[in-house]
Amino acid sequence: MRRLIRKKAAVLILAVLLVLSAVAGCQSRKEYTYYYYDYFDTFSSLTVYAADEATANHYDEIVREYLSRYDILLDSYEPHEGTVCLYMVNEQAGIEPVAVPDELYAFLEYGLAAFDITKGSVNIAMGALLRLWQEQLNRKADGAPAALAPTLPDTIPTLPDPAALREAALHADPANVILDPANRTVFFKDPLIKLDAGALGKGYVCARIEEALRAAGCNSALLSAGGNVLTIGTPPGLAGWNVGIRNPDPDAAEQVYTVWQVKDASVVTSGDYERYFVIGDTRYHHIIDPKTLYPGTRYHSITISCRDAAAADMLSTALFLLPEADGRALAAEYNARVLYIYNDYSSG
Ligand code: ADP
Ligand code: MG
Repeated sequence: MRRLIRKKAAVLILAVLLVLSAVAGCQSRKEYTYYYYDYFDTFSSLTVYAADEATANHYDEIVREYLSRYDILLDSYEPHEGTVCLYMVNEQAGIEPVAVPDELYAFLEYGLAAFDITKGSVNIAMGALLRLWQEQLNRKADGAPAALAPTLPDTIPTLPDPAALREAALHADPANVILDPANRTVFFKDPLIKLDAGALGKGYVCARIEEALRAAGCNSALLSAGGNVLTIGTPPGLAGWNVGIRNPDPDAAEQVYTVWQVKDASVVTSGDYERYFVIGDTRYHHIIDPKTLYPGTRYHSITISCRDAAAADMLSTALFLLPEADGRALAAEYNARVLYIYNDYSSG
């Protein structure tokens, strides 16, 4: 694991699979489920319907291979021997242009473009700022109240120094990340820039997995990768996959806020309950507003459903930070379905 353990005991979006194998006559395909524990600091699972086990196992291999490859490519915390990953880019690109694998280059083109698309709310170049928050978030187990963390000094989160936040924010201009398409290199005009794929990585890899699964003939699958749910087709005989959206209210009796039926679309949630620490009455979570340099406070969670898995992940983070009118206008450009859960736990 490259960060302090961030295993999520529960899946953020609960995939509620209606297993109705006894229904109707046309059920020659069987259901197979696979689990993945070692990628993107989260827990992932794949449910596929396939004619036989060998076919299903092939889909599993595709998913495992993509998750493991991109987990390395997009890792900004540790080097990986034999692969130029984000960590290497962050270490070297302030000194000289770094040649990167094609898949990482394509991600960087996409990730940098997200800044303008999201009106500056999703910024992969603000890694220096994000690190200051992540240091504190890593000081305790995921989601546990700070009071329950062991009382060793370096396990108690504190607020980052405001002057350090302001200084880090000066080194976050994506225009200073120079991509050279001819040589497939990355260069930082500002040597203090750091890149962070956190807001986009899982959705991006889900989009690549979807292409690979469809190319391999898969036409009925649900992949849940820590808060990102990708669906292909429908379960046999059903109109869609039922995807449960988590209630961000920790005290709610019902953990599932609502259920969306989806088909050939992704569902992604960004929320303030996923990763946080508490000081006083305030919950400091992991989605940082580039305008305030602090965690966004407009909503508890945003859920997006749209065709493109990568866009769904980008939009969930962006809408979490944008004023609602701007967010809804952006989502409309992607024909996305949106659920806002507001600070009073009402929704719209
Ligand atoms: P999750 O990864 O928990 O599903 P998100 O998709 O919203 O949630 O991404 C949050 C992660 O993205 C953070 O952990 C951090 O690494 C990074 N991040 C936080 N705020 C921003 C931002 N405004 N722009 C770009 N990346 C961000
Ligand atoms: Mg996101």
